[in-house]
Amino acid sequence: MQPSLFSQTPEDLAVLLEGLGEPSYRATQILEWLWQKRSASIEEMSNLPARLRDHLKENFTLRSLTPARSQGSLDSTRKFLFRLHDGRYVECVLIPASPALYGERSDRRTLCVSSQVGCAFGCKFCASGLDGFTRDLTADEIAGQVLLAEELSGEKVNNIVFMGMGEPLANLSQLLKALELITAPWGLGIGARRLTVSTSGLVPQIRKLADHPQQIRLAISLHGASDEVRDRIMPINRKWPVSELFKALRYWTERKKQTITLEYILIDDVNADLAQATLLAQRAKSVQAKVNLIPYNTVEGLPWKRPDEPRCRAFRDALVKSGIPATLRLEKGHDIDAACGQLRLKEERAERKDVT
Ligand code: SF4
Repeated sequence: MQPSLFSQTPEDLAVLLEGLGEPSYRATQILEWLWQKRSASIEEMSNLPARLRDHLKENFTLRSLTPARSQGSLDSTRKFLFRLHDGRYVECVLIPASPALYGERSDRRTLCVSSQVGCAFGCKFCASGLDGFTRDLTADEIAGQVLLAEELSGEKVNNIVFMGMGEPLANLSQLLKALELITAPWGLGIGARRLTVSTSGLVPQIRKLADHPQQIRLAISLHGASDEVRDRIMPINRKWPVSELFKALRYWTERKKQTITLEYILIDDVNADLAQATLLAQRAKSVQAKVNLIPYNTVEGLPWKRPDEPRCRAFRDALVKSGIPATLRLEKGHDIDAACGQLRLKEERAERKDVT
């Protein structure tokens, strides 16, 4: 498989052009065709000489993803399923600003992107891990989700969360390259502070990302405030228990001087009792984090349930009373399988049925 032209940085193109005896300004022209004009073919790049276009056509592909399916939702959350060159699928979700959180006039449009096909971490409540891990996405496949979602929706994405399928920090090298494609002025030009990387708790990679110069934001898929609860639903906790994780989070806050977000899916009879809320408040306070509470989205084939609304509110109120900034998201996209990995799982399983 040839690399995508979208994976090329100015430095990569400089080396390529030098080897071909082309002037260095061609790199700027190529990048403009890709990221600003969103060229649909290499042939279209009319200010490049024919010999250079021929070389690019022979050695690169253009797009690494094609649209497979999209679903809109009543609250205008949209979910896109994209097909990769090897027949696999990834999905991403475009989420408009919530007026309750950001005000009626907010133009915030958040895209939740995937970083891997499937996931090896096997969190017990998650659709992405149900069929195991298939492969890492490349940087251009990650950034390509933004390009394609913008084209299909006609809207400009200005906020990105790495919370779709996969564990982004298990694919750190491609994630860092994708961050470059997304933030560079010659690329998508989205500010680093508008990118949030979410991890289930890969401690060494959190420390590495803390040392990365860009001011990207960090969210932790915590979902349990004690080892007992996290061990039950998130196998990664056996490798890096809560105390190790919070040591890494303290390192992050020292380095980045920013607020971390703790994501907490409320699951009935698992982690939604007030004892967990008290412990969670203590943990959040220790790293000055805020907490996002998300009532569980039912996943076909999994036994978990969301707690009723009074219980969710009581959990939130307990955090707020302890001085922790906490939001309770009655999750957008509940009606379109928006929990990560569900749409892709349905598509791949349907294809397997077709084949057998
Ligand atoms: S929650 Fe995240 S890390 Fe856990 S299985 Fe799902 S995608 Fe993987």
